[in-house]
Formats: sequence, structure tokens, C-alpha cells
Amino acid sequence: MNYAASSDKGQLTGCVFNIERFAIRDGPGIRTTVFLKGCPLKCIWCANPESIRPYPQMFCFAHLCASCCRCVQACPNKAISVAADGSPFTDRDLCKNCGTCTDVCPNRAREISGKMMTVDQVLEEVKKDALFYQNSGGGITASGGEPAYQPEFLRELFRRSRQAVIHTCLDTTGFVKTDILKSILEHTDLVLYDLKHMDPQRHRQLTGVDNALILENARMIAVIGKPMIIRVPLVPDHNDSAENLDALASFMKELGLARIDLLPYHSLGRDKYTRLGMVYGLSELKPHSSERVAEIKACLESKGLTVEVG
Ligand code: SF4
Ligand code: SF4
Repeated sequence: MNYAASSDKGQLTGCVFNIERFAIRDGPGIRTTVFLKGCPLKCIWCANPESIRPYPQMFCFAHLCASCCRCVQACPNKAISVAADGSPFTDRDLCKNCGTCTDVCPNRAREISGKMMTVDQVLEEVKKDALFYQNSGGGITASGGEPAYQPEFLRELFRRSRQAVIHTCLDTTGFVKTDILKSILEHTDLVLYDLKHMDPQRHRQLTGVDNALILENARMIAVIGKPMIIRVPLVPDHNDSAENLDALASFMKELGLARIDLLPYHSLGRDKYTRLGMVYGLSELKPHSSERVAEIKACLESKGLTVEVG
């Protein structure tokens, strides 16, 4: 099945893993943030590992499990066995994320993350807060993952949002084919643009991809004059060196932009890795102190930038 975009009675469908109402950090005003699954990057600090794969995935909440083993019997793919301690063990290579085990679990110890939704269904949710958008200058934000990983769905969602006079904001990694990104920008009012690292090699080490396309797309957006805010996930010892901050400030100058948002690293997504059967690579990393964040903010401000800390 193609989860990225398929047709349902003329309605495009997309794989959505969360819809957050009353979001206040994903663009101006009060917003509804729609999180789409699928991402070409694998940032080692990612707080939403469920966003990476473009299809629904099963979460296991071990702390809720009573080891009744109903799921073992129910799984049509023989993906669950009983471990030595009597608890269920899920073989992720065999699991097809079908959700059968979530239906039989009496303790909600299993849950599918990601749901196929039509544009109409998502819009119905988004429109519930239209009054708040009008009063606060808010709207819809598409985030992920990389929302442009499902380009047809996203384009249609934004096109229809604008038809309903709802402000559209794209939160993107920038790692998107330029022609696809341009076609989405036609329906976008504001871009929140992530820059993870300015050095191509370091960028590849941290995210799995080169940053050349990302920098090129940022230049393209600046040239066409689309409003854009640069956002930097600030990760201790990974992208907070003086050298990287310098390079970042120079690039901002080249783009003709002053506003930059810093998003300090946190480890709140760590448990999700275990629940998805994945390994978190930064388990020992401590977040920045507030003093260090203030120091980095001051450093960027001294280079002429306007810095917000998210
Ligand atoms: S059905 Fe639920 S509670 Fe029972 S073993 Fe499976 S995960 Fe645990
Ligand atoms: S999601 Fe489906 S395939 Fe995966 S463990 Fe549960 S029942 Fe088995």
C-alpha cells in the first residue's frame, strides 16, 4: 500500500500521526499543527521517531502490559512470542503494523501511531478553531517528519486551507526536490526552515543527508521573497560550536534574513524509541543549561540577528 498518497473517493489521503490544536510555537498566533509521517532525514536527536517512516507503526507500552499474552495469539503474522519472563516480545521484522494486537489488548499497551486521513477529515479538525486563527493571526502548520514527503496531500491541504482563508505555514527540513517544494510554496504563507548544521560532512553525520539541497532551497525561498524563519535545533556538542554559529550568521546575511529561532535540545522523545523497537543514540546527552542557551543567543545577536528561543 502506498501510504504517502493514495486516492479515496476523489479525496487524497495522507498518513497523519498527530493533530495538535492550540499550538503556539509553530508559527504566529494560535495554530493547529498537522504532523505528517515520513522523513528523508534521520537526525540523531529526533524527538519524534514515529515520524520517520511514512506508514502507521505500532507502539508498545511495556509499563502498561500485564503479560496476558492475548496479543501473542491474535497476531496474524506470528510476530509476537513469549519471552523467558512471560512478557510478549515483538519481532519488528515480522510485524506488519496491522493493529490486530492493539484491538485485543485489554490494557492499551499497544497502539498504532499514524492514521490515513483524507484532506476533508484533516480540514474538518483544522476548521474547528477558525475563530481563534482570525483573532490571533494563526492558522494551520504542517510539520512532521518532513511534510513535503507527502507532496500531493500537503499541496491539497494547503490549497483548501487557503480557500477557507486559513493562513498556511510549512515547517520543513528543506530536503525536498526544488520543483516539488516550489509547487507547495504556491499555497504557503510562511516557511519555518530548519538548518541543522552548516558543514556538509557534519550535517551528513548528524542527519544522514548532505546539506547542499537544503542550502540551495533556502536561497531559492529567499530569492522569491516568501516569508521565512530559520529554525535551529540546538544540540550540545553537535552544532553549537563558534564555527557553526559563525557560518550560520553568514548564511543568514547572505539570505537577507535577521530572524532565527533556537530550539534547545531535550530528551523527551527518548522513550518513544524503546516503544518503537528503535535505539536512541543520544541517551547520555544532557540538555544545555539556560545560561549556555543565553550565551549562544547573545553570540548570534552580536552578529546582528534577532533570536527567539523556543
Ligand atoms: S495483550 Fe496487551 S497486556 Fe496482554 S500481553 Fe499483549 S501487550 Fe501485554
Ligand atoms: S501490529 Fe499486527 S503484525 Fe504487528 S505485532 Fe501487532 S498484530 Fe502482529
